[in-house]
Amino acid sequence: MTKNLLLAISIIPLSLLAQKNNFYGGGYEENLLERNSNESSILLNLDETLIDGKPTEKDSLALTPSFDIHANWDNRNIHSYSKDLSRMEGEIDLALVKSNHDYCHPINGIVTSDFGYRSGKHHYGIDLRLKIGDPIFSAFGGIVRISQYSASYGNVMVVRHDNGLETLYAHLSKRHFSSGQRVKSGQKIGLGGNTGRSTGPHLHFECRYLGKPINPNDIIDFENGVLKGKHLSISRETFSYFTKIKKKVYHSIKKGETLYAVSRRYSTPVSKLFKMNGLSQESTLSVGQTVRVR
Ligand SMILES: [Zn+2]
Repeated sequence: MTKNLLLAISIIPLSLLAQKNNFYGGGYEENLLERNSNESSILLNLDETLIDGKPTEKDSLALTPSFDIHANWDNRNIHSYSKDLSRMEGEIDLALVKSNHDYCHPINGIVTSDFGYRSGKHHYGIDLRLKIGDPIFSAFGGIVRISQYSASYGNVMVVRHDNGLETLYAHLSKRHFSSGQRVKSGQKIGLGGNTGRSTGPHLHFECRYLGKPINPNDIIDFENGVLKGKHLSISRETFSYFTKIKKKVYHSIKKGETLYAVSRRYSTPVSKLFKMNGLSQESTLSVGQTVRVR
């Protein structure tokens, strides 16, 4: 992709932008949808500052999906938000799709690890078993925001969707799109793999809103590979697991119990137990002693 392609970007008037607010909620412009899908080859290089008379960085930004929600576009940092949504006020009703065909299950694999607390930290996605080279599909339509290699996620892609969500696909063996390219729902965006911090071929799949993870089970029925509903209601309850994580948990040592047994029971690594309680290999535990386990 060259810089010149940028000049082909048409500018969406502000009046149309307002209609993007309600992308699937009625009153949207059909031709806006069409135009976007025709622009599949255009790379939104938002780091460039453009000269007079040409689309500006701001204009390019206005073309990004659900811009009214995100108001930013960062194609380098996977996670670029710091807002605490567990304190958000009210409720947001997100129209996920117009019809059920607008969702495509990323891959039909069995869930090998669920969203939630595990091994002393939170697992922000769902792991789906696959074979290396299996096609991975974009869940909804949108524009690829991140396509890069990361030490932990391996080959990772983040798609910002028109409906306001972002989905993340990690440990891929191949990425078929780069940042700024438009993808449709169901489009093959890459191949499954075992790259990064991964102990076997699988897809680590995340759903995020304003950078904050949502339990994918709130949105998707993983057993049948379909959406649970056309709408998603987002409130502080959606992100309440954050406050649950912070809650400290203690355990009272029983007779004959070792720190290794406690580690297994709470899925907290022994090294973490040492650190949280100021203990070392040499420390001895007494019956009734209280140790922090989370
Ligand atoms: Zn995972």
